[in-house]
Amino acid sequence: MTELLASLRALPAAGSGPRRTVDVRGVTFGAKRPVVIAGPCAVESYEQTLAVARAVRDAGADMLRGGAFKPRTSPYDFQGLGEDGLKILKAAREETGLPVVTEVMDVRAIDLVCSYADMLQIGSRSMQNFPLLREVGRTGLPILFKRGMSATLHEWLSAAEYIAVGGNDRIVLCERGIRTIGNGEYDRNTLDLNVIGAVRATVGLPIIVDPSHGTGRAQLVPPACLAGIAAGADGLIVEVIDRETERRQVLCDGAQSIRPDVLARIVKAVRAIREVRSACELDWPEDVAGGAGG
Ligand code: PEP
Ligand code: MN
Repeated sequence: MTELLASLRALPAAGSGPRRTVDVRGVTFGAKRPVVIAGPCAVESYEQTLAVARAVRDAGADMLRGGAFKPRTSPYDFQGLGEDGLKILKAAREETGLPVVTEVMDVRAIDLVCSYADMLQIGSRSMQNFPLLREVGRTGLPILFKRGMSATLHEWLSAAEYIAVGGNDRIVLCERGIRTIGNGEYDRNTLDLNVIGAVRATVGLPIIVDPSHGTGRAQLVPPACLAGIAAGADGLIVEVIDRETERRQVLCDGAQSIRPDVLARIVKAVRAIREVRSACELDWPEDVAGGAGG
């Protein structure tokens, strides 16, 4: 796989020496402190987004998430507020000071989204939209690059290479759950913890986990957050509702959204777990791991 990832491999590599860090307006991915991105699944209104933004800031989040362009399974579902949603995100950033990450799905919307966002999200469903990847590779903005729900590591990193060859090496990978047996019975997807160490052994890019989409259920989110950081992730992206009553009201992903009080406890726990990784010299899974085994 090495030769196919020429641009990614040209970056400071995994394994020894400093890893690549990606800076988003003062928030650093790949450094000692785990980065916590939190916010609503979708920007649905000014009031909802501002309330969640204030709550996640108070809970200790470093960045705000929220979709203005939503990739929905059905064309009849809520598709997002578009530019109005981006304006709301801008207002939330101005009030809270939190940098904003939001999804871009369409090449034609890149300039628009770039004029509001601090970081562009490429969603799971767009992971192999190669024209989109090439175009975001021409922007100077950092990219949150989600794994396709059925993508192999090779497919995921090769797709990241499309971004890097365009000249944009500010890429943060995001494991967001893959399709396995049992999905639907007790979870929506399976958060693939194994891929974190595998990524770190292959490229030097930061990697975060999305336990919201990775589990699909609010009660499974805290343990998955803790496990992700323990397994070597550099941060989290988590969906949040302002209060329990919003769970049934929001148009998108209420079942997997956690309350701000739960987020506050997760932030505390993952910082502690990150300290343990350092103290026990397990910051470098690739240094201590053998081969894949038989
Ligand atoms: C999201 O984070 O808003 C999202 C749609 O996630 P994914 O692309 O991982 O499904
Ligand atoms: Mn969602």
